[in-house]
Amino acid sequence: LVLDNVSYSYPGSTQGLHEVSLDVRTGELVAVIGPSGSGKSTLLKLVSGLETGHAGRIALDGEDLSHTPVHRRHIGMVFQSYALFPHLDVLDNVAYGLKLRKVPAEARRRRARELLELVGLGEFAARAVARLSGGQQQRVALARALAIDPRALLLDEPLSALDASVRGHLRDQIRAIQQRFNATTLLVTHDQEEALTMADRVAVLKDGRLLQIAAPREIYERPASRAVAEFVGLST
Ligand code: ATP
Ligand code: MG
Repeated sequence: LVLDNVSYSYPGSTQGLHEVSLDVRTGELVAVIGPSGSGKSTLLKLVSGLETGHAGRIALDGEDLSHTPVHRRHIGMVFQSYALFPHLDVLDNVAYGLKLRKVPAEARRRRARELLELVGLGEFAARAVARLSGGQQQRVALARALAIDPRALLLDEPLSALDASVRGHLRDQIRAIQQRFNATTLLVTHDQEEALTMADRVAVLKDGRLLQIAAPREIYERPASRAVAEFVGLST
């Protein structure tokens, strides 16, 4: 996944992203951290196609995504609030993207079951999503994101609504699954411990600009600027 000089401002606003360049290697997990309003979600929305009209280039597997609609980008997404479909049961939530892509009913049920097993929810296939815990709902969201065999995985604070014990467990589980799928991943998080323990590299954003991208240790031991040092120092 390559971003080359990507800029974006929301209509009627000067806020957004300013000349962000970064690349995420195949199978790499890059954690995106930075103060509230620094552009983390905006970055993910541009990659996913939920926001359009940026300057610069966003490419995935060599394909320029600028004119590729959301469902053709083959990107899996998980958000802070689960955004599952409340009127569908667990299995149909996971199979949803496959239905959009016209995968036959039997194949999509099989695939959805496989993924539910993988996230440890095999027994919950027929359950209404409203009757799951927050952590279970996030695992359904992860299974749904993976069901389409995504070329990239975008996780926007997937664990922040959960309590600490569930969060730690799910953090390990997500990392293990991400590695098993060799999924190219951007993970937005407020939790620096999460960034430290999960990420291959950490990207620090502030005011829509990329201040530094480096291995977690490097960010903490050799921050590239005072702004990075202050951010990683203050908010632990
Ligand atoms: P948080 O940690 O609070 O989720 P963030 O880093 O994800 O913050 P973004 O949501 O990317 O921040 O927002 C970046 C900037 O763009 C902010 O200044 C925000 O106010 C602005 N912004 C976000 N969404 C919109 C929108 N739909 N219209 C106008 N401005 C927006
Ligand atoms: Mg955000």
